[in-house]
Amino acid sequence: MLSVAHNLNNIQQKISQACQTGGRDPEDVTVIGVTKYASTERTIEAVEAGITNIGENRLEGLTEKYNAIEHEVNWHFIGNLQSRKARDVVGKVAAIHSLDRRSLAKEINKRADKPVDCFVQVNVSGESTKQGLPPEETSHFIEQLADYEKIRVVGLMTMAPHIKDEDLLRQYFRTLAELKVQIENEQWDHAPCHYLSMGMSNDYEIAIEEGATHIRIGTELVGPPENNESR
Ligand SMILES: *Cc1c(COP(=O)(O)O)cnc(C)c1O
Repeated sequence: MLSVAHNLNNIQQKISQACQTGGRDPEDVTVIGVTKYASTERTIEAVEAGITNIGENRLEGLTEKYNAIEHEVNWHFIGNLQSRKARDVVGKVAAIHSLDRRSLAKEINKRADKPVDCFVQVNVSGESTKQGLPPEETSHFIEQLADYEKIRVVGLMTMAPHIKDEDLLRQYFRTLAELKVQIENEQWDHAPCHYLSMGMSNDYEIAIEEGATHIRIGTELVGPPENNESR
């Protein structure tokens, strides 16, 4: 298995290239290392290679690594979050990327003692297996989150389908970027909405060209599931 440092170096080169193509500043693109398939040991290797943002999609994985890793790291919760687990997530993370329903907002609001940065998850492809709100319901949903004083909507998040069609991927990312601008323009106090969490191993270069500020990379950084122990 290749070292995380080697993989990260390749990724950074591709990020620079995509930034050049898209007229973006690499400083504006945060790499979230997704370690859901990786061991704690491999996760530490990622941190030592320079990763300072880590994403986990399950409470168990988050807790395991959160407890074991002593380095200064920003933790991100990127998976479907059951409301009853919100309490255990809010105190640990810099951001939750998967806010997609009012009941979850209510629970986060109840369990947090300070404002929590949240990305609202949008299902841009309309695939029934994907979490997230339909694009046309997103603005109204966010407007209503003003009821919850500890919810701060910092951006939108999406997971594109795992396909090769670049034009279609680009279209999905563009839809999210346009929706972000629309919400940003509302200037709601609780929803600055400046960020776009989009792009994974399969598609992050296109996502960057279309404005991604947070890319979530697992496989290309730490290796595919079968090369990692456990989970
Ligand atoms: C697993 C996962 C990723 C990373 O996917 P890769 O294809 O391994 O890069 C990103 N975002 C979410 C929400 C995930 O669950």
